[in-house]
Amino acid sequence: MTQVTRLRQPIVVVLGHVDHGKTTLLDKIRGTAVVKKEPGEMTQEVGASFVPSSVIEKVALPLKSIIPVKLEIPGLLFIDTPGHELFSNLRRRGGSVADIAILVVDITEGFQRQTIESLEILKDKKVPFLVAANKIDRIPGWKPMENETFTKSFKSQSASVQRALDNYVYKLVMQLAEQGFNAERFDRVRDFTKYVTIVPVSGKTGEGLPELLALMAGLTQQYLKSRLRVAEGPARGVILEVKEEQGLGHTIDVIIYDGILKRNDTIALGGLNGVIITKIRNILLPAPLQDMRVSKSGYKSIEEISAAAGVKISAPGLEEALAGSPLYVVEKEEKLPEIRKAIEDELSKVRFARNSTGIVVKADSLGSLESLVAGFEKIGIPVRVADIGPITKRDVIEAELSAKEIEEYGIIAAFRVKPLPGLEVSKVKIIYHDIIYQLIDETQKYIEDLRERRKRRTLDSLILPGKLKILPGFVFRRSDPAIVGVEILGGVIKPRYPLMREDGQKIGEVQGIQDNKKNLDRAIKGMEVSMSIKGNIMIGRQVQEGDILYTDVPQEDLEILFRNYKDSITEDMMEVIKEIITIKRAENPLYGIFIQ
Ligand code: GDP
Repeated sequence: MTQVTRLRQPIVVVLGHVDHGKTTLLDKIRGTAVVKKEPGEMTQEVGASFVPSSVIEKVALPLKSIIPVKLEIPGLLFIDTPGHELFSNLRRRGGSVADIAILVVDITEGFQRQTIESLEILKDKKVPFLVAANKIDRIPGWKPMENETFTKSFKSQSASVQRALDNYVYKLVMQLAEQGFNAERFDRVRDFTKYVTIVPVSGKTGEGLPELLALMAGLTQQYLKSRLRVAEGPARGVILEVKEEQGLGHTIDVIIYDGILKRNDTIALGGLNGVIITKIRNILLPAPLQDMRVSKSGYKSIEEISAAAGVKISAPGLEEALAGSPLYVVEKEEKLPEIRKAIEDELSKVRFARNSTGIVVKADSLGSLESLVAGFEKIGIPVRVADIGPITKRDVIEAELSAKEIEEYGIIAAFRVKPLPGLEVSKVKIIYHDIIYQLIDETQKYIEDLRERRKRRTLDSLILPGKLKILPGFVFRRSDPAIVGVEILGGVIKPRYPLMREDGQKIGEVQGIQDNKKNLDRAIKGMEVSMSIKGNIMIGRQVQEGDILYTDVPQEDLEILFRNYKDSITEDMMEVIKEIITIKRAENPLYGIFIQ
C-alpha cells in the first residue's frame, strides 16, 4: 500500500445519558455546517455528517489562539445516530472506528448512569474524548448570545452566573476524577494529552460550539495524525446497519475508515451463516434535493469514494449481512483466505456456543451482542450461547438445558429480536428490551428474584433448629392435641415441625401456633405463644409442665442449612444447634459432624 500524506477526516461519535442533549447538539452542528458552507463544499453521507474544515475555520475565527488557522484535516465526520447502541457497531479490532468522542453531560445534572457507562465504553475501546458540558443556557440568570463563542458569552455574564458555571464545571471535574480522569475547563488545560477537556456549550443556543469544533479539529489533527493518515489501497470499513430499501433490496450502510472504495470492487463481510463475498453493484450517497436525475430511491450512485465516509452499498446477497461486521475490499484473489479468516476470527469472538451453564443472549447486531455479553459477564451472569438473529428452536433447547442445571439461567435475553413465527417458547423465560443496560438490569433482577424465591422456598421447607419450654400453669388441654403455653428459648419453631425431648424421645409435631388468638406461621426466641402439639403426647405423662423440647432436625436439613443458608443462622439458633447435636449424637455419632 502506498502511503500518502493526506489526512482523512476524524470520525466523531456523540455519547452520553438520555436527554442530556446529544441529538440537539448534533443537529446544531449540522445546521451550522449547512449555513456556513460554500456551494459544493458539502458532500452527502450515509449515517454520518461531514463538517468541512472551511466551516470549522470560519466558525472558529474569533478563536485563532486556540486552533491553528489552517487545518490539515479535511473536516470532521460526525456519526449521525448518537448513543451507545450504534456506537457499539463501530467495531474495529481491539478498538473502535470512532477516532474521537464527545461525551455530552447536562451541566445542571452532572454524571448519570449512561454517562458512566459511556465513559467505560470509551475507556474500554480506547477512544479519546472531550466533555461537552451542555445546557449552559439553563444556568439561572444566563443571558444567551446565539452561536457565540463560550469565551465571549461567558465574559458578558454576571459574576454570580460565572461562579455558578464554575461550580458546575468543578462538579464535573470531581465526577471525572472519580472515574480516574484528570479534567479541566478547556481554557485551563495546559497539556491536552494528560487532561480531559471540558467545553461548556449549549446545543440550543449554539454557545460554545466554536470552541467545541475548533478543539476537536485541532486536537485530532495534532494527536491522532498517524491514525488519520490514509492509504490509497483497498477500502476497509465497518457495517453500521443493514437495511432493506425500496427498489434496492438489502443494502448495508458502511463507514469506510481507510483506503478507497470503488464500484465493482469485490467485498468480504460477515454474514449470519458465514463470510459473504459479493461484488458491489452501487455505491450510494444521498442525492441533493435539487438533483433531478436521482432515482426514486433518493440516492445517487458514485464511482468511488475515499476514507473517511459513510456510504450505502447495494450488492447481491446482503440479506444476511451482520451489522457491526468488518468489511474488506478483496483486491486480489490470493488475499481471500487471509481476509476470510480475519472476518471469521472477528465474528467467532462475539458469537459463540459453550458447553457450560449460562443464559442465552440473542441480538440484532454484532456490536450490541458484544456489549451485552460483556455487560452480563461483568456482573457475573455467565453466557452459554451468544448469537445474532431471531430466537430459534435451538435457543429454546439451550435455555432448557441450562435451566436443568441452574434453574434461573433458563433465560433468553433478547435484544431487538423476536422468536421465529410459530416457535413454542412457553417453557423458557424470554426477556425483551431495546436498551442494552435495561435488558441487562431486567435479566439480573429476574435471576435474583428467582434465586431469592428458591432460597426462601427451600429454607421454608427445612426443619430448623428450635427450643421451647412448656410454661407451668399454662396447660389448656392435655392431649389430642395438647395445647400449652410455651416460651421459645432459641431458634425458630413452625407448624409441622417434629419435636423431641431432651433425651431424644420423639413426641409428636407442632400443629398450630397462636398469639392472642392469631395464627402464626413461626415463633422465634423470646416469644410466648400457645401451641398445639399432636401425636404421642400427654402432658403429665411423657411431658411435664416446665419441660424443655427441641425440634427434631433431620441430619440432611441441618446440612442444607449450613451449606446454603449459613447467613440465616442466628446466634441463638447456633446455641440450639449445639444442644441438638449433643442430643442426637447419642443415637447417631455422625450427626452434625460437618460442623467443625
Ligand atoms: P438526547 O436524548 O441526549 O439526544 O437529548 P435531546 O437532544 O433529545 O434533548 C433532550 C431535551 O433537552 C430536549 O427537550 C432538548 O430540547 C433539550 N435540550 C438539549 N440541549 C439543550 C440545551 O443546550 N439547552 C436547553 N435549554 N435545552 C436543551
